[in-house]
Amino acid sequence: MMTATVRFAPSPTGNIHIGNARTALINWLFAGKHGGRFILRFDDTDRERSKPEFAANILRDLAWLGIRPDRVERQSLRAAEHARAAEALQGRGLLYACYETTEELERRRRRQIGRGRPPIYDRAALRLGDDGRAALERQGRRPHWRFLLPNFESDPLAPRRTELRWRDLIRGEQVVDLASMSDPVLVREDGSFPYTLPSVADDIEFGVTHVIRGDDHVANTAVQIALFRALGAEPPQFGHHNLLTLASGEALSKRLGSLSIASLAARGYEPMAVASLAVLIGTSLAVEPCRDLAELGARFDLAAISKSPARFDVGELDALNARLVHALDWPAVADRFPPDAFDGRGAEFWPVVRENLAFAGEARDWWERLVDATPLIAAEDRDFLKQARELLPDGPVTTDTWPRWTAALARASGRKGRALFLPLRQALTGMAHGPEMARLLPLIGRERILARLS
Ligand code: GLU
Repeated sequence: MMTATVRFAPSPTGNIHIGNARTALINWLFAGKHGGRFILRFDDTDRERSKPEFAANILRDLAWLGIRPDRVERQSLRAAEHARAAEALQGRGLLYACYETTEELERRRRRQIGRGRPPIYDRAALRLGDDGRAALERQGRRPHWRFLLPNFESDPLAPRRTELRWRDLIRGEQVVDLASMSDPVLVREDGSFPYTLPSVADDIEFGVTHVIRGDDHVANTAVQIALFRALGAEPPQFGHHNLLTLASGEALSKRLGSLSIASLAARGYEPMAVASLAVLIGTSLAVEPCRDLAELGARFDLAAISKSPARFDVGELDALNARLVHALDWPAVADRFPPDAFDGRGAEFWPVVRENLAFAGEARDWWERLVDATPLIAAEDRDFLKQARELLPDGPVTTDTWPRWTAALARASGRKGRALFLPLRQALTGMAHGPEMARLLPLIGRERILARLS
């Protein structure tokens, strides 16, 4: 058996968003499950829009998610291989020169639609013959090159219904009629390659066994399978997952910065909150926070992906994030804070505060509030708080101090419940809500307790 090899093939024309992360993660988890390899292939043949800094950002964002590609490739460095693939097709008579301008093609399309026919390229260029082509070349026209789809018996000018089938790893049996589409342009007038040929040539060259990508590519797949065969290769298996949309139903786009992985990272989300949501949303599986990619991989299954789009809801991300943060241990977060953070008592403070946090970084705000608290004292509580000051148990302040202290105070003042606890909390923390007082007290310390009660 060949090693399972997958690829994630972003075009570095912007920062990747949570929808792209979904594709990357699904591939990564699939490779992990099958002991396979993950290739990051930058589809950067669009020279104008591709930028090296976007490629660098994609690597950084994947690393943030926990994805470390086994191999990184750039299509822009492989033009010679793509040209060789084009020559191989030419040699087999499967690539033909066309001279129509965009305007001519557009006119022809409109005419076809006007006559109620599907706007499929009619292969008029095949009728040109050597003389016709030479005449056009003399006028200064340069050809673009189309792939002759295998949808005819012996005469390409008489295409007929030709079903191409594949068993999609996610969508099940798929059928496309190759006579329902135009021969795709594989080489442009300037000799550059649109996405189709480089993608297939590279998938062959890198031994890609499984192409898993968004279902916006389903329409490309029939052509690509035909192209694999034309190049003498066994097509890989294909799987097309549903796409994420905004709550409004609008597609995610690279131009929409807010859901970029970089901005989610900058806002302090846990990578595993983003990864858990990106993978589990739009599946039949429960959207639960997983602690690491291994746990997510064990839970995930391609067959669980739904066929309809999945709506991204930032509220769901917030909830997952909070649940992950509440379960994080101090060693897992310690290196996110400077060594002198929390007066060096992070190991003590973190477990006390974590359940109050939506984001791990908020621990710093809580600490500041704790050490700089301005006591909140109502006039009618002054005597009670004076009494509290006198009854604070002697000796070091520990987690036992609070129950002993408030029991004594209840007996002495006759107060109980809210009337007993709230004035103390407000005087000691300046807030009406927060972490458990018994555990906060040792962190506030005797000196601050006494100062805030006077
Ligand atoms: N560059 C293409 C994209 O960004 C890759 C599609 C594919 O995976 O083949 O959608």
